[in-house]
Amino acid sequence: MSRFLSERFAEIEPYTPGEQPQDFDYIKLNTNESPYPPSPKVLEAVNAEETAKLRLYSDPEVRQLTQEIAEFYGVRPTQVFVGNGSDEVLAFSFLAFCDADHPVCFPDITYGFYKVFAQLFCLDAQQIPLQEDFSVRVEDYCDCGRMVVLANPNAPTGLSLSTDQIERILQTNPDHIVLIDEAYVDFGGESCIPLLGRYPNLIVVQTFSKSRSLAGARLGFAVASEELIEDLNKMKFSFNPYNINRLSILAGTAAMNDRAYFEQCREEILSTRSKTKAALEQLGFQVLDSKTNFLFVRHPDLSGDDYTRQLRKKSILVRHFSQTRIKNYVRITIGTPKQMETLLEATKEILAIRRQEL
Ligand SMILES: *Cc1c(COP(=O)(O)O)cnc(C)c1O
Repeated sequence: MSRFLSERFAEIEPYTPGEQPQDFDYIKLNTNESPYPPSPKVLEAVNAEETAKLRLYSDPEVRQLTQEIAEFYGVRPTQVFVGNGSDEVLAFSFLAFCDADHPVCFPDITYGFYKVFAQLFCLDAQQIPLQEDFSVRVEDYCDCGRMVVLANPNAPTGLSLSTDQIERILQTNPDHIVLIDEAYVDFGGESCIPLLGRYPNLIVVQTFSKSRSLAGARLGFAVASEELIEDLNKMKFSFNPYNINRLSILAGTAAMNDRAYFEQCREEILSTRSKTKAALEQLGFQVLDSKTNFLFVRHPDLSGDDYTRQLRKKSILVRHFSQTRIKNYVRITIGTPKQMETLLEATKEILAIRRQEL
């Protein structure tokens, strides 16, 4: 730390992203990316002619992509805000709707960035413990006097709440924002977007990083009431008006437009997930009920840390979290069927050696 860094940032613990090796020698099951390439229409859209236009600024209103998202979800374009990854949408939401007098709450086990944003913006953040089985206790968020941030389905547990449950949280917090982060909703969750007309305090955040195979394009979006979207735009135009680059606008528009490809990838992941879950259970793993593109698993004979390190030696990356409550778990992204076979073979070998030791 230099002596110039503002004191208010001295204590911040920045987010630790999952490892991104720059070679392709690993089976990468550690950051919940799609194992499938983006829609072929993305490659057509991001062509030489468009690349030449990079000399020009991008559309600060991101109209083309906003229109496409609005059409897909049956909302007005004025209800959509596009960010440089949903991380940026989340940052603008914390910035816009929280301050010293407007605190925030979220579960103790959830997406790690919420805590970082709370620190960055000097917010009072209540971390509400998940129940013993890692489910969210809805009552904990009813009438709670704070902005509520919930990943639904949650990460890294993969568990989800129904829209009825979220609706109770919305009804009991009419004077506070309820932000639902639906990064994984396309893999079996229920979206809250249909609730938007009835709840002016609801913000739904989604991303192109998981179900639309565009993690590297950095695209996320919020859907909410026109007024809330105006507020998010106020943040953006006070910070980085050209937040989405030209090629990402084209890539996102093409991906959102290709419904058939989206459905196909999603179904493939769901089918691979259910087969992988069954196979891991056969090997003695406890596997949480996932509504996402990952499985959260533990094995009675293997610590989370040990399993992760043994897999790494076999060139397979998965994600382990050191937080006490989940330290015996490992989060495994659903890859291609072939990648999952390799994972299962490696796991069998690791377990066989472990049994000899026991
Ligand atoms: C991956 C993820 C994000 C971040 O997505 P980007 O759009 O890539 O910034 C946000 N929230 C949750 C819960 C995620 O898992």
